[in-house]
Amino acid sequence: MSVVDLKSGRRASKLPVEIRRYSAFFEQSSLPMEIFAMNGDCIAVNRAWIEVFAALETDYSRYNLFQDQQLVEIGMIPYLRRAYKGEALSVPPVYYDPSASGKEGRARWLECHLFPIRNEKNRVCALAMILVDVSEKKMAEMMNLQAIRVRDEFISIAAHEIKTPLCPMKLQIEVLLKMFQTGEPLDRDRIYRILQAVHRQTQVMTSLIDNFLDVSRLNTGSLELKIEFVPVLKLIMDVCDRYALHSVFTIFSSECHQKLIGAWDRLRIEQVLVNLLSNAVKYAPGSPIRVEVRIVKDEIIIAVVDQGPGISKENISRIFERYARADENNMATGLGLGLYIAKQIVEAHHGALWAESEVGKGSTFYVKLPLFIPEV
Ligand code: ADP
Repeated sequence: MSVVDLKSGRRASKLPVEIRRYSAFFEQSSLPMEIFAMNGDCIAVNRAWIEVFAALETDYSRYNLFQDQQLVEIGMIPYLRRAYKGEALSVPPVYYDPSASGKEGRARWLECHLFPIRNEKNRVCALAMILVDVSEKKMAEMMNLQAIRVRDEFISIAAHEIKTPLCPMKLQIEVLLKMFQTGEPLDRDRIYRILQAVHRQTQVMTSLIDNFLDVSRLNTGSLELKIEFVPVLKLIMDVCDRYALHSVFTIFSSECHQKLIGAWDRLRIEQVLVNLLSNAVKYAPGSPIRVEVRIVKDEIIIAVVDQGPGISKENISRIFERYARADENNMATGLGLGLYIAKQIVEAHHGALWAESEVGKGSTFYVKLPLFIPEV
């Protein structure tokens, strides 16, 4: 008898003659198969079944379909009943964990095909079950759904972020148009102020779109650095000067001197510092912001210190991930891309970017970058 006998062999005698007749087929089939008696007792499993489900150690002779509570929970019983009544059918994939039913083996997604076996009188005398492991396919589907959800969420946030500068821009342009349409005397100062505001909004939009482009470059690994020799202190002072209106104080340690050089992509490192300072202004409005610069061996450490709301422990490692925002600070809008991009830029320079913070006690963001030390 080539159908694998169950361990005890106790139920081998229950194998209907129809199955014995097709035993070679069961045995050689590459599809895992189980045969059940009319009362739900498992009476045979084939070799493929044992290989796939690696369940040699389990005594299936004691397994009964209708006593498996898990099958009730996953809704299999109605399908089994229909199959026992003579219908061949396929059950949509179910998640089955053998250990929850006292068996060996790991949990997986299974597609289950049921075939009634009929005797000479055309009466159903047993049930064949073919199981197909579809865990990988199911996982891919789930990842795809997750990716679609993330994409949809991103589109909705991105649309909101783009609309934020677009709405005031539209209003201001409408004011200008009206001025020209009504033929009212043109007030140069007013027009200049409106144009300045429109210009500011276009800058916001440009930087948003630059962020999108950077993320897509990072995804495709095509973010290229244009390395040049950069006067380090000048670069830091230039960026800090742009934030002079926001109480930014810069403190240089005594080792800092004008001749410090970095072999950096100047615009990209500027982008990193601008991001940290803009975040400090955005999330710690009104608080003094300190930029502390010190040299440790052949590296420079720039710390941007604010006295804002701070960031919790759980969020501090997350905020450098793509689209990550700390929930305690979401009163300000943002896409959660700035720090992700900044970290990638700093790491591409063989440096490091990290943060220390405590809720209610402000945050400090550190950028560590290698300096260029000429050989003497
Ligand atoms: P965005 O500001 O567009 O959300 P970022 O990547 O620049 O994106 O920042 C990620 C998150 O980190 C922010 O949403 C905010 O929750 C938090 N964060 C960044 N800087 C600070 C800061 N200085 N103080 C408090 N929270 C901050």
